[in-house]
Amino acid sequence: MPGFGFARTCLVVRHSVFVMVLRGFCCFALMFAAAFPALADMPLAVTAARVASNDARGRLVFDFDRKPDATVHYIGHPDRVVIDLPATDFTLPQTALQPVGLFRDIRYGAIDASHARIVLNMSRPAKVMATDVAENGEGGGYRLTIDAEMTDQKTFDKLVAAGGWNAAAYNSGRQARLAQDPPPSTGKFVIAVDPGHGGIDTGAISLDTHVPEKRITLAFGKAFAAALNKQPGIEAFLTRDTDRYLSLPERVTIARQKGANLFISLHADMLDQPSIRGATVYTLSDKASDHLAAEAADRENKSDEIGGVTVSHEPEAVNDILQDLTRRETQAFSISLANAIVSSFKGQVNLINNPHRSAGFRVLQSDDVPSVLIELGFLSNRQDEKLLLDPAWRAKVVSLLVEAVKAYRAPLVAGKG
Ligand SMILES: [Zn+2]
Repeated sequence: MPGFGFARTCLVVRHSVFVMVLRGFCCFALMFAAAFPALADMPLAVTAARVASNDARGRLVFDFDRKPDATVHYIGHPDRVVIDLPATDFTLPQTALQPVGLFRDIRYGAIDASHARIVLNMSRPAKVMATDVAENGEGGGYRLTIDAEMTDQKTFDKLVAAGGWNAAAYNSGRQARLAQDPPPSTGKFVIAVDPGHGGIDTGAISLDTHVPEKRITLAFGKAFAAALNKQPGIEAFLTRDTDRYLSLPERVTIARQKGANLFISLHADMLDQPSIRGATVYTLSDKASDHLAAEAADRENKSDEIGGVTVSHEPEAVNDILQDLTRRETQAFSISLANAIVSSFKGQVNLINNPHRSAGFRVLQSDDVPSVLIELGFLSNRQDEKLLLDPAWRAKVVSLLVEAVKAYRAPLVAGKG
């Protein structure tokens, strides 16, 4: 049938034209797609990164152009923390992430076409305490913050066995504090007693008898912890109970990991002026209360240098209003404890003028544990030296300190009831 033949020819022609147009369109579309891939298919870009760490805690910050999805897991032998990411281009200068503190080595790069990875070789067993993905303010893009903290080998091995968790699930826009296994709660008021110095770090040396400060603080610490443990509802532990070196950040971290409600660091100071004597109670402040306080903080902060610990600048603070509030509240409690100690000592123990002072002591830098540092006296003063080495004086000071802790705690207990 000619009609059929014509129609069929038309159909074939029309079909061919359609296919040609379609092919042409597809080619164009493919070319277009190749030239302008959808943003979602493009790798993320990391444009800057920073690291800060001491030997107990560390923070890594990566600036992304878009919101990253990060998964953290752990690999043993050697101990590594791994952060898995979607395809990511790292355009970082070689020197951006130098190893420091907890991080022995920091590597990053593509795993395959659609995955990238950051591998943190740790200098000791450590765990990621929190990750945070937050919008960058002015520069645009997103900031991935990873906070790590020292842990013991057993906990690390458990993490390796458990596999990973998806960091994105915890990203609520502000810092998500991932619960480390909470310290077993005994319902007791827990006090960290911190004998200053130890091991390679002798602290001050007494004038006449040449007894190192580290031995005096350990003796005081042991007596103080034992006396506290006799009190109902109170449980005390020592950050060190032998002559061993602990860095300042380690002391802070041990206290927090053991669920301390208070941190009390014990010291005996040393000055060039042998006439100055008496006890001082210090709390933390950005700006030192006076010259003497600033110098005392400098002397005590030297401990990390003596121990050969790497000290980087304090990790940059994540903008977190809640954390600021916690810090301020902790500060108020620290001051209240310092006042209780000064009141308890008054008329009983020789105090220097203005016995409550403040400065930037690194061992007092816990965000959430009220902390004080007590300089029990001056090893550079003969009368103080004699007292600091006298077990009877030690027992008297310890019982006054216990009274101070009880006075500090009384309103808290009453408030609960
Ligand atoms: Zn000291």
